[in-house]
Amino acid sequence: MTSDHDQQAQRHRDALVRTIQSEAAETAFWTGRERFGDAVMDAITKVPRHVFMPTPSSLRTAYANCPQPIGLGQTISQPYIVALMSDLLNLHGGERVLEIGTGSGYQTAVLAHIAGQVYSVERFTDLSAQARAVLTQCGYDNVHLTCGDGTKGWLRHAPYEAILVTAAADGPIPPALIKQLAPGGRMVIPLGPRMGPQMLTLGLKNGSGAFLSRPVLPVAFVPLIPATDSPLEN
Ligand code: SAH
Repeated sequence: MTSDHDQQAQRHRDALVRTIQSEAAETAFWTGRERFGDAVMDAITKVPRHVFMPTPSSLRTAYANCPQPIGLGQTISQPYIVALMSDLLNLHGGERVLEIGTGSGYQTAVLAHIAGQVYSVERFTDLSAQARAVLTQCGYDNVHLTCGDGTKGWLRHAPYEAILVTAAADGPIPPALIKQLAPGGRMVIPLGPRMGPQMLTLGLKNGSGAFLSRPVLPVAFVPLIPATDSPLEN
């Protein structure tokens, strides 16, 4: 039986989907995408963003098309950006996807709906534990989380057909990520310094292993912090 609260949350998600599709149309000049695919928008319709909020929040806040703080100076990404990044990966179902920066686990959940298996790396153990609790509570059984330095990827499960990075790399794309991307695979990653300007970048590895990238949209992400002295081997 669905409660009043569940029905209200569903109405907020349906409204959010309309907002995202109209922002997709407004930004098509940069992104080349007039509309986002059905599988991605279906996932946004289903994932209960309010349960990924760190503290109880109103449905209005949870489903606003804005980033929100999740503690430790990090943010749950703006829903439009989550949809755009997911859409750029051109997933058809069944793929193995690597996410760097689990954060709240919201983007992880969206990917879990449209890919086969999702592997996600987070540097803060507290955020990873919280995301694990919520993703388990929601019943996602195709999500695998670990703690460590995501700039090293997650070698154990490589190669990945898609890689999505939710924090901005100040410098070149980490070479380990390019290495762990399967031939024919796609990567979405924000590049640029902490205070901007940053550019959402789409990378493609062709069948013979050559990697090419192109800018998609100016963005603002929290920084990707390489833990150069991290004892953790992903
Ligand atoms: N997709 C997340 C976004 C979280 S913000 C969400 O929607 O909730 C980006 C995340 O990247 C933060 O949680 C931050 O701790 C993490 N991060 C930054 N540098 C990292 C690194 N080197 N390895 C793994 N995670 C990193």
